[in-house]
Amino acid sequence: MKKLSRRSFLQIAGAGAATASVATVIPSLKKHEGKKLNIALCGLGRYAGYLADGLLESQYCRLAGIVTGTPAKAEDWKKRFNIPVKNIYNYQNFDSISTNKDIDLVYVVLPNSMHKEFTIRAAKAGKHVIVEKPMAITASDCQEMINACKNAGVQLAVGYRLHYEPYNLEIKRLGQEKVFGSIKLIEASLGYKSSDPNEWRLKKSLSGGGPLMNLGVYCVQCNRYVLGEEPISVTAQFGPVTNKQLFSEVEESITWQLEFPGGAICTSSSMYNCSVDRFFASAEDGFFELSPAISYGPFKGRTSKGELNFPEINQQATQCDEIAKVLLENKQLPSHIAGEEGMKDMRILQAIYQAARTGNRVSLI
Ligand code: NAD
Repeated sequence: MKKLSRRSFLQIAGAGAATASVATVIPSLKKHEGKKLNIALCGLGRYAGYLADGLLESQYCRLAGIVTGTPAKAEDWKKRFNIPVKNIYNYQNFDSISTNKDIDLVYVVLPNSMHKEFTIRAAKAGKHVIVEKPMAITASDCQEMINACKNAGVQLAVGYRLHYEPYNLEIKRLGQEKVFGSIKLIEASLGYKSSDPNEWRLKKSLSGGGPLMNLGVYCVQCNRYVLGEEPISVTAQFGPVTNKQLFSEVEESITWQLEFPGGAICTSSSMYNCSVDRFFASAEDGFFELSPAISYGPFKGRTSKGELNFPEINQQATQCDEIAKVLLENKQLPSHIAGEEGMKDMRILQAIYQAARTGNRVSLI
């Protein structure tokens, strides 16, 4: 499917060519005209590049500032995105962002174990925060981040971009509205081949864990939003280590089974030794599936009744715009992207690791 510009997608959604579930995330735009949310990206790695491109396409956000430990990157981004020198910070002087009225929100895009520190520092500086997934590396870290934002009176969102992606909104609708009856089985897996021994994702102190932390978090999230339920127990198994040099600190692959109160079993794998990106749900009266399901697309999907066909969107632009519209109106961010949501996922990830380590079924209630 052709990738639409943000503007043409909005026109199509507004004209009713997309499903109701897509249109619901695109409310009237008129009342926000002229207002923009000023965002500082904290950590200028690969994903920050996607976000910066998304911000250029967004209507309600501006890439207003950056936080980086690398002076050469600061210089490059300053030129490329026309960022004023006064809005450029490093990790040491970051706290002085508190006096900068031109920054409304800090988007933390650092290695996972750094999310907690920079979320708390941003909150103390009086800035709203979006923090990338996984929210942190333990549920108690997530709780500290939530508390810090509450105490500072700022809002906290997790960068769960799929809550704005049309194909994922559709599987959420199909599941929660039980369009094909009660779901009995979900298979959701995400993996890619990792080969760089210097990658921080392979260092436990920075990543908190292997593919489960990085990729499995999406599978857990989509199980929960498709079923609209919380899991009651988990069993899990680490896969064999076929590259001992690369995977000396984190798992190479992991498979787990979540049991949900409505009777669904969700089985997932996440791995760094092969590519997979799929979601499949089997219900009493039919099935629905996506593949690719989770990555940046283009997405492809079908149900037992036929093909799914939605526009491709710029996920980063859409996510940032939808968050901006809520914050610009001084409203509360929706609960499905709030810090509590990231903490629930983290609690489940920790239980999956416990189940894999011990070989026991771990209760989640
Ligand atoms: P990356 O390695 O490309 O970038 C990490 C950035 O952190 C770099 O700019 C690096 O210089 C900086 N950094 C600061 N201290 C560091 C340290 N001690 N070690 C390593 N880097 C350090 O990583 P990325 O792919 O941009 O991922 C960043 C975050 O974004 C992660 O939490 C990841 O899970 C998340 N992410 C989300 C998505 C998504 O689709 N939502 C996609 C990719 C990554």
